Amino acid sequence: MKKALLILSAVALLAAGANAQPKTNVPVKNVIFLIGDGMGLAQAYAAMDASPEPLVFERAQYVGLAKTFSASSKVTDSAASGTALATGTKTYNGAISVDVDKKPLKTILEKAEDKGLATGIIATYEITNATPAVFIAHNASRKNEEDIAADFLKTDVDVFIGGGRDKFAKRSDGDNLIPKLEAKGYQVVYKMEDAQKITKGKIAGLMADRHMPSMAQGRGDYLPQATALALQVLKNNSPKGFFIMIEGSMIDGGGHANDAEKIISETLDFANAVKVAFDFADKNPGTLVVVTADHETGGLSLPAKSGGKELGYEFGTKSHSGIMVPVYAYGAGSQNFTGIMDNTDLNKRMCAALKLQ
Ligand code: MG
Ligand code: ZN
Repeated sequence: MKKALLILSAVALLAAGANAQPKTNVPVKNVIFLIGDGMGLAQAYAAMDASPEPLVFERAQYVGLAKTFSASSKVTDSAASGTALATGTKTYNGAISVDVDKKPLKTILEKAEDKGLATGIIATYEITNATPAVFIAHNASRKNEEDIAADFLKTDVDVFIGGGRDKFAKRSDGDNLIPKLEAKGYQVVYKMEDAQKITKGKIAGLMADRHMPSMAQGRGDYLPQATALALQVLKNNSPKGFFIMIEGSMIDGGGHANDAEKIISETLDFANAVKVAFDFADKNPGTLVVVTADHETGGLSLPAKSGGKELGYEFGTKSHSGIMVPVYAYGAGSQNFTGIMDNTDLNKRMCAALKLQ
């Protein structure tokens, strides 16, 4: 009888294509933080609806909601919400990890470095754009992207991969930061094939002059591949563990353009990176994965179309909206990422999980 039940449950697991889920109530060693820029609940569900397989978000062990308002506006921009996620402090729209008085705020990535953890940042936009920038730079304005590029030299982030080569190599001040990165021990690469030959040490992956191409323009598997590479390199770099932020940057652009097709293709790509992170957590006990958005973009709703046979896509704005965003958590410590949270709470709970001060 017992044996039959075991076989039955094994068959059920296989049928669902499910792995055994990781233990949650265990100490956290690694944190993988994934931000879908502009990915509200409607964006996430539009991608779930478009996906032929159950989307990885459905594997989340705990789910919550996060409020996103900033210190200056009920509707945040990516700089203020990114700063809240990176530092645990609300600030004004446009701020890059400085407070309302423009004083620098220490980021979770900088705290992780202080503790000897390996660290990483990945984006599909320029690596100097607001969402990646808030984890490493401090500036009164998100527009000062060349200053933000120079801030990368002030830190010891192990791996950063994104677009934005021109902000390092073709600067208005005539400086070239590439030799300076190499002098700091970075293996500077411009192509994913070259990055994938690296298994250890520091990587500066500047994969486009400006932004990476969109999915429709042929970006391919860049984001999940960069994610898999970075997780392996960070694991090899520090026995103490790591913190990494991975951004699906272009869901936001789909929202601004009121382009549902772009939202769906970029969210599905982001979900592929989330899958890499969840699978890593399955194989590496003590890994916490937190997935959220910095804000919603487009005021997307999904009314019935064709008499309810399909979802329609209707937009309420060409800008960001103030609605709460989803939080999907997986792995060690994921039980702490549930309920209605403020975006600053996500930072505080990730810092607590890694015992960072
Ligand atoms: Mg962004
Ligand atoms: Zn935006």
